[in-house]
Amino acid sequence: MKLEKIEGEDKKLKFIASETSPAMMNAMRRVSMHHIPVLAVEDVGIIENSSPLFDEVIAQRLGQVPLVFDADKFDSREECDCEEGCSNCEARFTLKAEGPGKVVSGDLVSESGEVDVLYDKIPITILDENQAIDIEATAVLSTGKDHSKHQASISSYQYYPLIDIDQDDITEEEKKKVVEVCPRDVFKLKNGKLELNDKMSCTLCNECVETIESDGLVVTGDKERFIFKVESVSSHSPEEILKKTAEILDEKADKVIEKLS
Ligand code: SF4
Ligand SMILES: [Zn+2]
Repeated sequence: MKLEKIEGEDKKLKFIASETSPAMMNAMRRVSMHHIPVLAVEDVGIIENSSPLFDEVIAQRLGQVPLVFDADKFDSREECDCEEGCSNCEARFTLKAEGPGKVVSGDLVSESGEVDVLYDKIPITILDENQAIDIEATAVLSTGKDHSKHQASISSYQYYPLIDIDQDDITEEEKKKVVEVCPRDVFKLKNGKLELNDKMSCTLCNECVETIESDGLVVTGDKERFIFKVESVSSHSPEEILKKTAEILDEKADKVIEKLS
């Protein structure tokens, strides 16, 4: 498989994967979303909650707060040798606040000081005068397979678009229609010619082909080339997510080979 990066931001990565198959792309998609361990709040102990929100709602909100952690230092509870929870398999927090005022993710205080919130302005609740919360929370390592709060990324792929324009076959009227109908501005008209404006934005919806009667436009997907997108929804960077995806796929392939031999 060959990879070519085409767009990269802090949390997003888009690349072309060629000489591969839909099966491999789907495996990468699933592993990158659901098999990479991510730390998230699992247990919540409410000592006091006189906020307008039910205990369960507060607990649910805390579970959705992305946490920054050192992946090499944590094991899941199942993998850890301890029986009651230790600093290897749990990260403990406290959350104390008195009204009036907003309570946000940044108010969570890590017991060890080794885990932090990724974004500190996520609203948890609002407290009025004489209202307060006093909460203990424990975060554990798990994967998106277990719960979406442990999901590492949102990943997707599509066939690489192949767009063939026959300038002689397609009528002037059809050229205009095609430019108008495409929701992704893939085409442009230049000196009476239908040209590509942004081929990579094509989603293969086929709207353009269906809108005309001539055979002057063909849109298909390359069966061995794909556009793959990764958007991190955790503290892992998209590059880390891809690296871990490759490692996990490698391990899974080794297990299959082991079973077959
Ligand atoms: S298939 Fe859809 S997105 Fe692609 S060029 Fe045609 S209308 Fe635009
Ligand atoms: Zn432990």
